[in-house]
Amino acid sequence: MAQVQWKVFECPRRLKAKMCWFLESFRLIYMSLCYNQFTTWNSIIDTAFEPMFWIVDHTAHYIGVIMVTMVVLLTTMVVMVFYICIFPHIVYVTDVFWCGFHFFFSHWLLVNIVFNYFMAAFTKPGHPPQNVPEVVSICKKCIAPKPPRTHHCTVCGTCILKMDHHCPWLNNCVGLYNHRYFFQFICYMWLGTLYVSIAGYDVFKQHFFGNKELIVPAFFFPINIAYHVWTSDSEDNLGMNVTTLKLLDPNKDIFLGQTTESEIKATLEDQLLHNAIILQFLLCAGVTVALSLLAVWHARLISEGQTSIEQHINNKERARLKKKNKIFRNPYDFGIIKNWKLFLGLNKNRSFIRHILFPSTHDPIGNGITWETSTFKLDHSHVLDLL
Ligand SMILES: [Zn+2]
Ligand SMILES: [Zn+2]
Repeated sequence: MAQVQWKVFECPRRLKAKMCWFLESFRLIYMSLCYNQFTTWNSIIDTAFEPMFWIVDHTAHYIGVIMVTMVVLLTTMVVMVFYICIFPHIVYVTDVFWCGFHFFFSHWLLVNIVFNYFMAAFTKPGHPPQNVPEVVSICKKCIAPKPPRTHHCTVCGTCILKMDHHCPWLNNCVGLYNHRYFFQFICYMWLGTLYVSIAGYDVFKQHFFGNKELIVPAFFFPINIAYHVWTSDSEDNLGMNVTTLKLLDPNKDIFLGQTTESEIKATLEDQLLHNAIILQFLLCAGVTVALSLLAVWHARLISEGQTSIEQHINNKERARLKKKNKIFRNPYDFGIIKNWKLFLGLNKNRSFIRHILFPSTHDPIGNGITWETSTFKLDHSHVLDLL
């Protein structure tokens, strides 16, 4: 028969030991959470912005679709306003030579903008293969080797060759194979918005300041007439027929028709068109300023032979080496001219006029996996030779 021993007097001691263990555990948890000996301002800022990064990473695809739709719709609106209002105005106020110039210049810009945008948005930026001859690190997220200049995109969830940044306006990463399209799109879009702002300034001024008398140029009248015939009653149509005969007569002053004023006014005061003209000018002027800054920023990076991500890394490295009285040198900087040739993919068989000023689908120079550097030269058999 087992003997039961009651140890009531040990209860306070055991309770105290339990409480001490609990308090010690709590102290350790508290100390580990507040441990900040290696904390820097960068890590504090990163931690503070972590929720925002999480939201951006998880909503970027949806935001990207919305932004691409916005780009397409706004560009379409600007093009429509150009065709409906600005180009007819140019035809009315200029001679044949300038009409021809505006026609070819505007369509050259439009073709380049559309081509480069869609190529930038739908060309895959380039992903590293499984077997990489030159590995600089391992991607912790892909668990795969990373070649030089490759970075992981948290939005795309994959590694990107020569990654520049993830662009929500393209809903795509900007990397090796679409970097040129991206930059050309910025340049052509900048030129296009600048052109439309200048060419459409007269039309905008007339609408914005309320002087609408000269807004409708000559050959836009048939559209007005069709609109009025469609919307007016039979009595008005009779008046319009008289007006039509007057307006279509080239010997008549196109705006003399006091009789046409009410009809013209009806069209001019069409709120949709009026708003579209004002919105179009303000949008184009604003985008011109924004794209100027963006284009200059990227042009500077290209001139220095670095991407947006590399610029951050190189600046940190430059500051670190400066403390040791050493000078940092970007290994991918070959001087301005060669940097631009490499970026634009211009080799002996390609020309600036054919391959940059006009749509071209030529590939960039190199495979994005092994890189020639300013201290090492890559020969044709992909073997690194020390210069
Ligand atoms: Zn990765
Ligand atoms: Zn991406």
